[in-house]
Amino acid sequence: MIKQYLPYYRHLKAVKLPFGLGVLAGVVYAAASGAGLPLMTHVVFPLLFNSSSGTGAVEVTNSYELWLRNQLGVLSKDRLLLITCMWIPVIFLIRGLAGYANSYLISYSGSRVLEGIRTDLFVKLQSLPLSFFKRNKSGDLLARLMSDPEVLRQVIAQASSDLIKQPGTLIAALVALFILARQNSSFYVAIIPLLTIPICVLAIRHAGKKLAARAKQLQRRGGDLSAALAESLQSPLEIRAYNLQERQVGMFKQKIRQMLRLSMKVVKYRQAISPSIEVVAAFGFATALFLGVRAGMSQNDFLALGTALFMAYEPIKKLGMIHSLFRQGESAIERIEYILKEPDNLADVKSPHKVVSPREALRFENVSFAYGEEPVLRDLNLEIPMGQVVALVGPSGAGKSTFAMLIPRFYDPQVGKITLDGQDIRQFSKKDLRSYIAVVPQMPALFTGSILENIRIGRLDATDEEVYEAARKAHAHEFIVNQPEGYQTEVGERGDLLSGGQRQRIAIARAFLRNAPILILDEATSALDSESEAMVQQALAELVKGRTTFIIAHRFSTITIADRVLVFQKGRIVGDGNHEFLRETDPTYQSMLGNQMVVNPV
Ligand code: ATP
Repeated sequence: MIKQYLPYYRHLKAVKLPFGLGVLAGVVYAAASGAGLPLMTHVVFPLLFNSSSGTGAVEVTNSYELWLRNQLGVLSKDRLLLITCMWIPVIFLIRGLAGYANSYLISYSGSRVLEGIRTDLFVKLQSLPLSFFKRNKSGDLLARLMSDPEVLRQVIAQASSDLIKQPGTLIAALVALFILARQNSSFYVAIIPLLTIPICVLAIRHAGKKLAARAKQLQRRGGDLSAALAESLQSPLEIRAYNLQERQVGMFKQKIRQMLRLSMKVVKYRQAISPSIEVVAAFGFATALFLGVRAGMSQNDFLALGTALFMAYEPIKKLGMIHSLFRQGESAIERIEYILKEPDNLADVKSPHKVVSPREALRFENVSFAYGEEPVLRDLNLEIPMGQVVALVGPSGAGKSTFAMLIPRFYDPQVGKITLDGQDIRQFSKKDLRSYIAVVPQMPALFTGSILENIRIGRLDATDEEVYEAARKAHAHEFIVNQPEGYQTEVGERGDLLSGGQRQRIAIARAFLRNAPILILDEATSALDSESEAMVQQALAELVKGRTTFIIAHRFSTITIADRVLVFQKGRIVGDGNHEFLRETDPTYQSMLGNQMVVNPV
């Protein structure tokens, strides 16, 4: 069980000292609790209640008192009484300070583990292929990044603290029991109640198993809930437009109720552990009492023995709780490792070739591609000379976007290869290859921050002047300077404060700034107002000059800036040539053009 957790302990390397001190404090706590308290009871109480009644020095009753006498000379009764009484707060002070230091330092170390795990997850998420994000819901991924590591932190912190403190306390208590029992020749009285420990272990294991299953379901449901929440928060418009509020609230209530039920099941099993062990311990204690009294034990001896017994059961109870926490942590690990262990099917080759500025051509050689079973691109063969502007047209779902997505290696073809100047693009590192490509997606994502920062995403080391220049070329400068704070205007989450056309132009400005020789443009399908559209068109015409460009054209007016048109149908290229040629010769193109020309004459 613990084996699964070991990889995560490596995050403790960075906090060796506080963790080590925390462990040490745990050992001190354990000694003070397990042995300190029972032995104190054994030493202090007899001195308090059995000392001589004279006014002068008290009788020597044990080695502790002998030691005191040596230290302080002959003691008055009151003095001895006072010093002896002080044992109690001193032991509790040591125990309290050590317990506090242990909890504080171990919590700190646990938080660093949490930081390490979250960072690992985030780093991994940055490198995972696009397909992973298509397969998984963002809300669920968020839960795996935020809630599951938190469960793991609790387990690691609690376990690191208690796995030292509790077994330590148990051992110390057993040692104390052994010492006391030897002195009192009533060893069996101490031993018999301990025979109930295996019963406790069995109960803990049973509850742990039940709990693990419920915890697993609970965490999965947590992921579902956060996915549903994210979806809801991302679509306020649709929810209002289609009056989905009641449906959304109903769904939310249902999910949250399911979670409540499961978390109550977890509570049921977790909280059952402590009282069960207490009842078993009480039986043990009663047995000890029965046997102790029959064996003629004194009240004082039994008090010390009873404290030691209590101190022995307490760790078992706590270890039971840790066991349940461990089981809960296992499902968190499973969910975390779903991300951490996800194989990267687009990994770079071991020693990648360097991309030298592309000069000749990009070739598709027998390329076929499928997301699942059904091929989306079928046996494509074509050559695109550098500098050519290619428009990709065809009905929805024909494979145009997929074709374009293969070029920056967002996906790799299952069959055939794509070459750049004769070199298979899989031989390049993705980072290097992508530095030669600019992508303007249909719905450009804007990040929280200013417009300036958003354009600078195109090239992070660009100066302000270069950003302004790119914005001018993208026909964005004018609208930007008219914003309340010009380039410093915050764009708002997801860029909602800007219109579709403005967002597109910001994305085009990014591409200008990137100044990459290969350009992929997915034209916006949403209708822009005619002024915005004219500006986007002008900006695009500027941008494509001298670059190898792939435009997924949704407006036939865009085709006018293309040197070549590829007509896609059901994953194949059924037409290839310039606009005039295709208009004359290609029936599919003619019919597509016919439909479009009604709306948008070329
Ligand atoms: P549109 O003009 O509507 O954007 P398109 O020609 O660009 O369409 P693609 O987006 O390439 O078409 O999609 C081609 C096919 O692949 C479609 O049938 C689509 O359902 C499927 N598809 C696209 N993306 C995925 C994905 N991530 N997983 C599974 N199937 C996908």
